Amino acid sequence: MDKINEDIQAYLEDIINEERDVARNGRIPDYIEKVDNEDHGAISIAITGLNGKTIQAGDDEGRFSLQSISKVISLAVALMDQGKEKVFQHVGKEPTGDPYHSLMGMEVKKDGGPLNPMVNAGAIAVVGQIKGETVDERFQKVLALTRKLAGNPEIDYNREVYQYEDQDLNRALFYYNRSGGYVEGDLLDVLPIYWKMTSIEVTIKELARIGAVIANNGKDIDSDEQIIPSDVVTVLKTFMVTCGMYDQSGAFAIDVGIPAKSGISGGIVAAVPGRMGIAVLGPDLNKHNNSIAGVRLLRKMSERWNLSLFNQ
Ligand code: GLN
Repeated sequence: MDKINEDIQAYLEDIINEERDVARNGRIPDYIEKVDNEDHGAISIAITGLNGKTIQAGDDEGRFSLQSISKVISLAVALMDQGKEKVFQHVGKEPTGDPYHSLMGMEVKKDGGPLNPMVNAGAIAVVGQIKGETVDERFQKVLALTRKLAGNPEIDYNREVYQYEDQDLNRALFYYNRSGGYVEGDLLDVLPIYWKMTSIEVTIKELARIGAVIANNGKDIDSDEQIIPSDVVTVLKTFMVTCGMYDQSGAFAIDVGIPAKSGISGGIVAAVPGRMGIAVLGPDLNKHNNSIAGVRLLRKMSERWNLSLFNQ
């Protein structure tokens, strides 16, 4: 390892140690703690530069489920399948200010409908836009894109996590969507895709690579293949800024200023355009259902390396 990388590694270990205690003071959703193989207070960071080099620090927690981070990938698939015009007839472009599984907006707004693709209601509508003959064919498209972005053709979903994903609120959101015409078909034509994609498992390094490809405008960092068209990546990055951290997105934009998406497994993927992908994992969540450690560590890294988009 060269000197610069050694310094970065040492800095990452330092900030991880600084956050150890506070990172432990959250809540891990029951089923995630039970079946997703994560420990209270465990923290991990990986950074992948656009040159393909990765630095990892902290605890190695093995694989963890993407949870809501998968919403970025399903949105990419739907936009590639149907184009922006069609997709945005089914889902809005506005932040919610509500928790991820909220029903607000579905009934309160004048036209109803899910507010954006980064909350459950919107992600369910987006999944309904993915083309394919069968449920499995449509899920396989999300899985295939995840594998490509992460650079690992073996990535799969965790069957045990999947067993726990069938939750009443998401069923309710499906029916709200359907009653407004934002999704079609039967519940089991759509929700199993959503359940499976949230159960897809990655390592912290794979997650950082996903961030790096987004930071690289959708081009693979090794082969240069355009995996996602750059106009689609623009949409992804914008939603990550405005809606990626749920009802903490505004504060996160001010404090960190990096396009990012969190999941309730405690992972966060961040894409610093033209520079790097960053992944953080800390299973304990704050009241916005974002990783306590993840948000704090991203803030520190952003300040240290001047990563905020709004400070360039
Ligand atoms: N499995 C979760 C759900 O759909 C994913 C949500 C999340 O990560 N916020 O409720």
